[in-house]
Amino acid sequence: MIPAAFTYKKAGSVDEALSLLAEHGDDAKLLAGGHSLLPLMKLRLAVPEVLIDLGGLRELSYVREEGDEVRIGALTRHHDLEHSELLQQQVPLLAHAAGTIGDPQVRHRGTIGGSLVHGDPASDLPAVALALDAVLVAQGPSGTREIPATEFFTDFFETALGEDELLVEVRVKKAPQQGWDFQKFTKRAIDWAVVGVAVAGQRVALVNMGPTPMRARGVEEALASGASPAEAAERAAEDTSPPDQAGASAEYREHLAKVLVRRALENAANRGA
Ligand SMILES: Cc1cc2nc3c(=O)[nH]c(=O)nc-3n(C[C@H](O)[C@H](O)[C@H](O)COP(=O)(O)OP(=O)(O)OC[C@H]3O[C@@H](n4cnc5c(N)ncnc54)[C@H](O)[C@@H]3O)c2cc1C
Repeated sequence: MIPAAFTYKKAGSVDEALSLLAEHGDDAKLLAGGHSLLPLMKLRLAVPEVLIDLGGLRELSYVREEGDEVRIGALTRHHDLEHSELLQQQVPLLAHAAGTIGDPQVRHRGTIGGSLVHGDPASDLPAVALALDAVLVAQGPSGTREIPATEFFTDFFETALGEDELLVEVRVKKAPQQGWDFQKFTKRAIDWAVVGVAVAGQRVALVNMGPTPMRARGVEEALASGASPAEAAERAAEDTSPPDQAGASAEYREHLAKVLVRRALENAANRGA
């Protein structure tokens, strides 16, 4: 459980992080909160030669208003999302879901950027970003570009972020009146979800139901054509391929997805204006 030897570099600015990435290429890994990367390094599933620590980039830790959006720096920790009054008022789904991640230690170290870039289909914030139709801002050597959350998660633990890019910001529309809910079924309080569901208005996203976090398009289509939450939830497992493991079979997760989607849609309808 001891990582392989690596060289540690602390980035003092976004530009410095980018030039260290350009210099070390494939040999380097960015370190944010370390709560996904360090366990992989201890298991030697990730063996970077150079670790570029973003932890000092406090300029990437913020939650602020900009017109009809809330903009969140990539280094903002789960705890700060949970306790942001702006998010609680304008994007309550994100504040609430952040408060369900792991335990206080994880929430004080883990960052929204790390969670999204890690791209774990069992993590909560990727599904929340999908349900919120978030836009992710990447910065690379030739400037910044916007990536819709729906195009960000490309494969199992893979994203559309380039190897020479940093995720710098997450943008979400303010939606204080929108119905929302987050359902997470866990075996123990601090666990990752066996299955999770994020609902924002008519958008529904699933945690741990396939190789990537995903929108439940069948459910959304049913809602758009006037189906009730119970009817729409019957389509929750469409086009999914959940993991089939000893602790929870694929069939069990498909059943759970239907139950949780129904519950989430009913709660969201009760919350909506
Ligand atoms: C005990 C435990 C329980 C947990 N429970 C949950 C849970 O219930 N739900 C849940 O969703 N998550 C859970 N997590 C994961 C946690 O949320 C992590 O903090 C998060 O997934 C990764 O964020 P991080 O800042 O720690 O990223 P890191 O581990 O530092 O990095 C993760 C990956 O993202 C890359 N990266 C990080 N930041 C950037 C950036 N700005 N730009 C480009 N690349 C970047 C890194 O290079 C690395 O590949 C748990 C973790 C632990 C250890």
